[in-house]
Amino acid sequence: MRRGIDRRQFIAVAAATGASAAWSAPTVADDKPAILGGKPVRGGARPAWPAPTAAEENAVLDAVRTGRWYRSRSVEQFEDAFAKLNGAKHCIAVSSGTAALSAALGAIGVGPGDEVIVPPYTFLATVSVVLMHYALPVFVDIDRETFLMDPGKLDAAITPRTAAILPVHIGGAPCDMPRILSIADNRSIPVVEDACQAHLAAIQNRKAGTWGAAGCFSFQVSKNLPSGEGGAIITNNSQMADDCYAFHNCGRKRPGGRSEYRLGRNSNYRMTEFQGALLLAQLDGLEARAQTRSSNAEYLDSLLRDIPGIVPARPCKGATQNAYHIYMFRYQAEEFAGLPRNKFIRALRAEGIPCSPGYERLNEALFIRDALHSRHYVSVYGRKTIESWAERNRCPENDKLCDEAVWFMQNLLLGPRSDMDEIAAAMRKIRAHAAALVN
Ligand SMILES: *Cc1c(COP(=O)(O)O)cnc(C)c1O
Repeated sequence: MRRGIDRRQFIAVAAATGASAAWSAPTVADDKPAILGGKPVRGGARPAWPAPTAAEENAVLDAVRTGRWYRSRSVEQFEDAFAKLNGAKHCIAVSSGTAALSAALGAIGVGPGDEVIVPPYTFLATVSVVLMHYALPVFVDIDRETFLMDPGKLDAAITPRTAAILPVHIGGAPCDMPRILSIADNRSIPVVEDACQAHLAAIQNRKAGTWGAAGCFSFQVSKNLPSGEGGAIITNNSQMADDCYAFHNCGRKRPGGRSEYRLGRNSNYRMTEFQGALLLAQLDGLEARAQTRSSNAEYLDSLLRDIPGIVPARPCKGATQNAYHIYMFRYQAEEFAGLPRNKFIRALRAEGIPCSPGYERLNEALFIRDALHSRHYVSVYGRKTIESWAERNRCPENDKLCDEAVWFMQNLLLGPRSDMDEIAAAMRKIRAHAAALVN
């Protein structure tokens, strides 16, 4: 009966909207979707984030009580531990992921007249730091299968002005660093990895952030290792470590570092002891949480692959560990009776599954346009370069991805495996009733 109604509605909708015929009514007669008044698949609460333990609370209190609030023991111990955890020689803790990226670009000497290559599928800070140094962002389109910068399009974007390449391990999915480095090294261009979402991710079992000249991390509250705000730079190059340290700490010499004050530009991007203590105390549970996310995500992959129209992001070649800061997949409306993505998301949320549509087209963001049309940019790059910038930075694959993507945040992967079964059940239910939901 229900199937008959759904089918008729679908045919009517398909005729009206031109929806492809890919969808056919699934044979399972599930309960009514929650958004149509049915019972939600999931009633219980999701794993909270952040989730401080008593040990973490005490660590912060101890830091407060010592009276050493300025960068000292806790920050330094965290730096040592974080470097070791990643297999990096040096770590400089800073005030945010944005500060980490800004210091790394500053240390490399990026400035006006330079170009920095970035992907369009990322948090806006990846580009704000390029603009902060008055460099020109150059977008290289993504591969829709992986959600990552397409290394096949990298070489063509390099010019004599390219001062840095900034690949982003988005969602915690690591980029194909060997391939990116082979292109960059060939032209002697430094690579700064935006690993702000990629704590403990790895390529060929080597950690994300240790491949390029520097790797930048964020400890903002939503991230997999949070201290409210915070960030870190890791590097194997001691000169780079000295320069990043100087940039972040008013030009000062790094303890144990060699170079005296020589970096012209600098700032104060220091981390406080409270953040250091909180981070240090969290390192104990970090790997266990990463493993829970991975095993849940891999199980969820296997469930979702059986649902037509749901396409989880594919790992790049060589990826051995995904940090799963975001579980990302593409939603293909034509496999859901033409049900638009926003309605799919609303229906999924009604089932008790929090999700979001993710990033918008960054290369079309107004803040970039405004910055590029400022008198400073126009005087450095010339009106012709600025006016042709939008056309030269089109990213058609990313445009499509921004219309198709759906995200689950990392804490959704911290519960029991049965949570993954619920997510898949909710999607199957929505798909079975997709035609009715279109209206
Ligand atoms: C979070 C994030 C940043 C910025 O980090 P903050 O700590 O918020 O300044 C940069 N890039 C990416 C990809 C991020 O996710």
